[in-house]
Amino acid sequence: MKLKDLIVGHFRLAEQQKRALHKLGLVTISDLLFNFPVRYGDVAQFKNITDLQKDDLALIYGKVTGLKTSRAFRKKIPMAEATLEDESGKIKIIWFHQPYIAKMLPEDSFVKVEGKVGERKGVLYLTNPEIEKIDKLPVGVGNSLFGKKDNNFAYPVYAETRGITSKWFYHALQKVLKSGILEIITEPIPTELLEKYNLPGIKTSLIWIHAPQKEVDSISARKRFAFQEIFFIQLEKYKERKKYEEKPSFAIEKSAKEMNDFIKRFPFKATNAQSKAVNIILEDFAKPHAMSRLLEGDVGSGKTAVAAATVYAVTTTRPLKHVESKVLGRPSAPADGLAERQDFGNLQTAYMAPTEILAEQHFDSFIKYFAYLNINIGLITGSGCKKFPSKLHPTQATDISRAQLLKWVENGEIPILVGTHALIQKSVQFKNLAYIIIDEQHRFGVRQRQQLRKKDDISPHLLSMTATPIPRTLALTIYGDLDLTLLDEMPHGRKPVITEIVLPNEREKTYTKIKEEMAKGRQLYVICPRIFEPDPLKETALNVKSVTEEAERLNRDIFPNKNIGILHSKMSSNDKEKMMLAFKNAEVDILVATSVVEVGVNVPNATLIIIEGAERFGLAQLHQLRGRVIRSNDQAYCFVFSDTKTAKTFERLKALKTAKNGFELAEFDLAQRGAGELYGRKQWGISDLAMEGIKNIKMVEAARLEAHKIVDTDPELENYPLLQEKITSRDNKIHFE
Ligand code: ADP
Ligand code: MG
Repeated sequence: MKLKDLIVGHFRLAEQQKRALHKLGLVTISDLLFNFPVRYGDVAQFKNITDLQKDDLALIYGKVTGLKTSRAFRKKIPMAEATLEDESGKIKIIWFHQPYIAKMLPEDSFVKVEGKVGERKGVLYLTNPEIEKIDKLPVGVGNSLFGKKDNNFAYPVYAETRGITSKWFYHALQKVLKSGILEIITEPIPTELLEKYNLPGIKTSLIWIHAPQKEVDSISARKRFAFQEIFFIQLEKYKERKKYEEKPSFAIEKSAKEMNDFIKRFPFKATNAQSKAVNIILEDFAKPHAMSRLLEGDVGSGKTAVAAATVYAVTTTRPLKHVESKVLGRPSAPADGLAERQDFGNLQTAYMAPTEILAEQHFDSFIKYFAYLNINIGLITGSGCKKFPSKLHPTQATDISRAQLLKWVENGEIPILVGTHALIQKSVQFKNLAYIIIDEQHRFGVRQRQQLRKKDDISPHLLSMTATPIPRTLALTIYGDLDLTLLDEMPHGRKPVITEIVLPNEREKTYTKIKEEMAKGRQLYVICPRIFEPDPLKETALNVKSVTEEAERLNRDIFPNKNIGILHSKMSSNDKEKMMLAFKNAEVDILVATSVVEVGVNVPNATLIIIEGAERFGLAQLHQLRGRVIRSNDQAYCFVFSDTKTAKTFERLKALKTAKNGFELAEFDLAQRGAGELYGRKQWGISDLAMEGIKNIKMVEAARLEAHKIVDTDPELENYPLLQEKITSRDNKIHFE
C-alpha cells in the first residue's frame, strides 16, 4: 500500500460507498489517513432506552423487531412501525411517509438510531428517526454497550455520509495502519519543534488520532495536527510577505503638522482609534519595505477616513527622480545617498471596493476630502469611468472614456483611482503605484488581491480593510502575511443600537413597540433562519421560522396594513436588487429576509430589526445583522427573538448587549463553540481541527513565532525541503476563503 494509491484499489466498495467517498473528497490512501475523526464518541453519549425522556434528542444502539407497514387510521398516510430494543428496554418507532424503511431492514437487525423522543398518552416513541443498519455493536464499545465500558475509551466518529459510516472508516484505517504504510511517512515538522512543544511524531500521531487507547493520546495527536496546519499556514503567509518586502517600495514621509492640517478639515473629530491607526500606517510608510496591514473595524467605525488621511500622505508625496534599478526604488538605498524627488507629479493610490455602489460611494467621499487640494481622482467600474474635477465644472465629476482614463492613470496624471475589480485588469497600468487599499477585503479572493499587488517591480504599500469580526488568533493565522490594527471605537455621539433579547412571552409587547416606531415612518427588517417551511410532518424537522411563512403570518396577524417584501438567496440577483431598491425607496415597509441582507446596501430609514431563531446564528453574525440598522441618526433597535429557554443560550445572546464590539463577540463565539460547530473549512478555509487549535492562543503564537524564525533565517526554506514541499502542495490545493 502506498500513500498515492487509490482507495478503490485496496477496498471492495459498493457503488454507494464509492459515491460517498467521492462526496467526502477522499480518493487516495493518503486522503483516508489524513481524514481525521471529528470527535470521539463514548458510551456516555448514547442512551439506554429506559433512560429516555420526552423531547430527548437520543442516540440509541439496539435491535429492531416487529417491523410492519400500515396506513395511519383516518389520514391514510402510509407508515411503518417497529420496536427498538436494547438490554434496558423497548421503545416504539414510527415512520410516516417512509414505509420503505420497513422493507429495507431485516427483522432483528442491529441499528443505530438518532431522533427525538415523543410521547402520546404516557407512552414514549420515536418518529421518523435517522436509522442506520450496523453489523455489530460499535467499535470500542464492544459488548459493553449495555453496561460497563471496556479499556477503549472511545470510538472515533468521522464525518459521515450515506453509505460510509464511522465504522467503515475504523476498519479501513485499521487495515491501512497495519499495512506498514507508516514506515514510509516522513515527518514534516522539524524535530526540535516537536521536542520543544512536546508534540508526538507523525507516526504515533496517526495511530493516536485514529485509534486512541487513551483520551490524552487523542488530544496530543489532535494538538499536533492542529499545530502543523497552523504552522504551515504561517510559514506560507510569512514567506509570501517576505517576498513582497524584498522588492523596493516608495518611502512616504509626512510631518505630523501636515497630517494634522488635513485631518483638521474632517467634518468631525477623529476618534482615538482612527488617529492611532493613521499614525501606525505612517510609521509603516517610513520603513524600508512595503507595508502589509489589515485594518479591522466594525461597520461605521470610520475606516474610510483612515484611508483618506493615509492617501493624503501618499498623494502629496513626489515620485523619485530615477526609478531605474530596484535599489533606486527607495530614497535611502541608492549609492549616491538620497535619491531626489521630482518637483512634479504624485505617487498613486489604487482603492478597490467589492461593488459598484461602494466604489461610487468612496469616489464621492474622496472628492469631498480632496477637492480643496485640486487633485485628480478617477473612478473605474464595469459600467464606466469618471474623473474629478471636470474641466467645464471644476466642482463636479464628469464621465470620461475608459481609454482616456487609462491613459491618464498610466502617465500619472490621476493620482487616486477608485474602482471595482475593473482595477485589476491588465490594461490598467500605473506610473507610480505606491499604495493599494482593498475595502471589505473578505469579499475578494486571494488571487484577486495578489493580482493587484503583483503589478510592478516596486511593492506598493497595502492596506486591507474589513468589517468581518474574527478572533485575533484566527486573523493572525489566515492573515499571517498582514499586520493587524483594530479600529475598536465608534465615533462619538453615535447612538448605539438598543438590543433586546425577547422571550416568547414578550412578543406581543415587542410588536406593539415596533408598531409605534413604524408609525413614525421607520422600516423594519425581519431575519429568519430559513427560506421555506420545513416538512411539517417531519417531527424531527427543526422548528424554526422560514421567510415565506413568516412573511405571510406577519401580513395576516401582525402588520395587515404594511407592505411586506421578501428577500433570500434562492431569488435571482435581479429580483433581489429590485427588492432592495423597493425597500430603499420605502415602497416596502417590512423586509423579511434570510441572512443575505448581511451584505446588502444601506437603508438609513430602516431603524428596526427583528432576528428570529437567534440561537441558530453565531454572535458575530448576529452582530453583523444588527449592523444593518447602525448607520441611521435616529435611535435604532434590534430585537433578538429566541425560542430556547436554556440558560446557556440566554447567556450567549446577552453578550450582544454587553460586548463592546464585534471582535469581542467573535472571541466569545469561538470560545463557546464546540467540536462540529466551528465551521473552519466552510468559513475560513482551514480544517475544524485547526479551528480547535485557533482557540489556543499559545499554540497560535508558538506556530507564528517558529514560522517567522525559520523564514527570517532561511527565506526559501532551503534547509527544510520537506516543509517547502508541504507548502507548495498546500499552495496548489487550498484556496483560502
Ligand atoms: P466603515 O468603517 O464602515 O467603512 P465609514 O468610513 O463609511 O465606516 O464611516 C461611516 C460614517 O461615519 C461616515 O458617514 C463617516 O463620515 C462617519 N465618520 C467617520 N469617522 C467619524 C468620526 N470620527 N466622527 C463622526 N463621524 C465619523
Ligand atoms: Mg466601509
